[in-house]
Amino acid sequence: MRLYNTMGRTKQEFTPLRGNAVSMYVCGITAYDYCHIGHARSAVVFDVLVRYLRHKGYDVTFVRNFTDVDDKIIKRANEVGSSAHDIAEKFIGEFYVDMDALGVLRADIEPKCTEHIPEMLKLTGELIEKGHAYATPSGDVYFKVRSFPDYGKLSGRNIEDLVVGARVEPGEEKLDPLDFALWKAAKPGEPSWDSPWGKGRPGWHLECSAMSEKYMPLPLDIHGGGQDLAFPHHENEIAQSEAATGKEFAKFWVHNGFVQINSEKMSKSLGNFFTIRDITAKFMPEVLRYFLLTMHYRSPLDFSFDALEEAEKGARRVYAALGQIDAALAGSKWSKTPMPRDILDEQAGYEKGVADAFEDDLNTAAALGHLFGMIRLAGRVLEDKALRKAEAGRDLLSRIRAGIANWSSVLGVFAREPAAFLDELKASRAARAGIAPAQVEVLLARRLEARKAKDFAKSDAIRDELAAMKVEVKDTPQGQAWDVL
Ligand SMILES: [Zn+2]
Repeated sequence: MRLYNTMGRTKQEFTPLRGNAVSMYVCGITAYDYCHIGHARSAVVFDVLVRYLRHKGYDVTFVRNFTDVDDKIIKRANEVGSSAHDIAEKFIGEFYVDMDALGVLRADIEPKCTEHIPEMLKLTGELIEKGHAYATPSGDVYFKVRSFPDYGKLSGRNIEDLVVGARVEPGEEKLDPLDFALWKAAKPGEPSWDSPWGKGRPGWHLECSAMSEKYMPLPLDIHGGGQDLAFPHHENEIAQSEAATGKEFAKFWVHNGFVQINSEKMSKSLGNFFTIRDITAKFMPEVLRYFLLTMHYRSPLDFSFDALEEAEKGARRVYAALGQIDAALAGSKWSKTPMPRDILDEQAGYEKGVADAFEDDLNTAAALGHLFGMIRLAGRVLEDKALRKAEAGRDLLSRIRAGIANWSSVLGVFAREPAAFLDELKASRAARAGIAPAQVEVLLARRLEARKAKDFAKSDAIRDELAAMKVEVKDTPQGQAWDVL
């Protein structure tokens, strides 16, 4: 597999460092609020990467942390009169609710910052001992950036560029504006732990260095996170870990792109900020997951409700086709009509296309394109009266069905029973359109009565009434069916 490595800015062949085992660390959330679409994208992207590596047969150890003490958590706790611990626990719980809905698998190890204070104190002590860090009179400990000559190698920055933007805030006792905090002396009312430098709490960057090293050997095969974490967070993690251990920290650095809202950065102040909960109140979580995978993970993803509706249509098309394939495969009386060569070749092309897309830097967008090709091909076979009933047709449809099921388990979409998904989707679309299904059923029953009584004026009037409610009625051999217009 070729994977884009931010370290070096090229696609590189991914080979695990230790036989079949793959170690992967991804920076998790700071638990002070509900997760937004940016968090959803990062979680889904790395979930697909883990699933794909396992699909390839690797034995993956996946670690994703929770930052459960931090300025933002403490601020939030003070605002609502709660403790930092309770705020963090609440939003870790909410994180799981969202991730379970999105089909994001749990990581193998999910360490919390506050449960790894001894490891962080040890790492800080080692950095001081080796001359890479220093304690100030008030009990802060800073990493000495200029003591680590490789600083900036991940994000492509050099020390001189960084000096321009660096500041020493009032009250800080940094020896150099570039230095960053490993340990922060306790302020009144903040959670704190004992340390050789007095009571305090860890700086944000420290936990990932301490926790990844605790659970996996260095270098890690893969370290991941959102693009916004590359600098300074990941740069600081590298400095801490490599200065302390003398080992390379991670072989591959994988970063997912930003989510934009109508081509603008998503932010609370611009009023274009959406939590996962905002979206899943209106759309099925699987639709959001599918939407997030329709772009390559490194490209910026432009979110809009129109785009989400398009994704919903796509998911509906796939499930409707899967339902039709299943129904055709359940039939019998197969003929000997041969399958045209070009159809078989086309299917082989899609199968290779999906596999190649995953191998080429986890290109889920291209992979989905090929899966849609298979769906269109299945449609061609199903529409052809002779092929639909042919043994060769059944073989091809089974192959398409198996192909989609195979990749569904990697993508985490299109894996449900089609009828169940389509029912739920209909309910979701009806709710968005303000349609009450019970009311529709009442009107449909009246329409049926009118039709039995041959009162077509009345039955047409009911149809119009339903149309005004954005309900479309179809008369099928199984009776009346309805859908959202
Ligand atoms: Zn991190």
